[in-house]
Amino acid sequence: MAKIGFIGLGNMGLPMAGNLVKKGHEVRGFDLVAANVEKAAARGVNTAASAADAAKDVEVVVTMLPAGKDTLAVWGGGMLGAAANGTLIIDSSTIDVASARAAHELAADARMPSLDAPVSGGVGGAEAATLTFMCGGAKDAFDKAKPILEAMGRRVVHCGEAGAGQAAKICNNMMLGISMIGVCEAFVLAEKLGLSHQALFEVASSSSGQCWSLTNYCPVPGPVPNAPSNNGYKAGFASALMLKDLKLAQEAAAAAGATTPLGAAAAQLFGLHNAWGEGRTDFSGIIHLIRGKHVWTAPAVQEEFGVDAKWGASHVFGLLLRH
Ligand code: NAD
Repeated sequence: MAKIGFIGLGNMGLPMAGNLVKKGHEVRGFDLVAANVEKAAARGVNTAASAADAAKDVEVVVTMLPAGKDTLAVWGGGMLGAAANGTLIIDSSTIDVASARAAHELAADARMPSLDAPVSGGVGGAEAATLTFMCGGAKDAFDKAKPILEAMGRRVVHCGEAGAGQAAKICNNMMLGISMIGVCEAFVLAEKLGLSHQALFEVASSSSGQCWSLTNYCPVPGPVPNAPSNNGYKAGFASALMLKDLKLAQEAAAAAGATTPLGAAAAQLFGLHNAWGEGRTDFSGIIHLIRGKHVWTAPAVQEEFGVDAKWGASHVFGLLLRH
């Protein structure tokens, strides 16, 4: 069993740290929010006074933070200096590829093996220890991290060198965002054509239109009983997190010179959906936006995009896609 420092005890980090304790590891946790540290203590996590304190006398440090700037601030702000030589440093936050690579360089300068290991599976997966970890970094670091990550997840995949885990995460989620919008458009077209939701589902779920957004997360209530659409679009996977990942994909595409026109359109549409106040609801709720309801009446949208209240939805989408 390992001694592990855990920094960032929020929605994801708290249950992940708790699962490490359940599997017999000794965990020292820190978060800027004192209440989160208290919740972790209730799950058997020893409390640390700072990120540097959490990294002292441990074999592994895991960070689970909001964004690239936070990972770099923690790794470069005393945590690496406090860790013993050779401590394995793992970042499971979803961050931009450039910051992930910069974090690996900080660790290499401090002579520590490191891994970017973002996750999919959400808060439910974090609680149930069924997350998928997508890992980037040297094979030695991956081999050392694998048993630790397996205590928090079901699948641990080595995707390649530094930054490859983050690259896999944003490529996957760009596909997901685009496919969800495509499925929503098909259901809205079916509604206009008088085709029932169930009939479209039965055909498309066993035809070439089949995809995860349709068969696991169907955006209309009925065909998939566990989908958030049957639960008032309660997340699930929040629209704000989908927007975050689509923006990361766009940043990466711009930096790498990749052409991602549908990824760009998906980022715009989820931006609009969030501006409409839907950031906390499930991302499949974007079907409301595709139906065009309320688009031109939401004050935040009118203000941000200069929308005239009398315009129809198609006009607004056309405008946004040119934005
Ligand atoms: P969260 O905001 O609930 O948790 C982040 C925690 O980090 C907060 O408790 C915050 O106080 C803490 N923090 C920030 N700066 C810190 C610092 N300098 N030192 C110590 N603690 C600090 O976010 P979350 O939902 O737990 O997500 C964490 C990461 O996982 C994000 O990058 C997110 O994109 C990714 N992710 C989230 C989900 C999800 O469903 N929530 C799914 C997959 C991936």
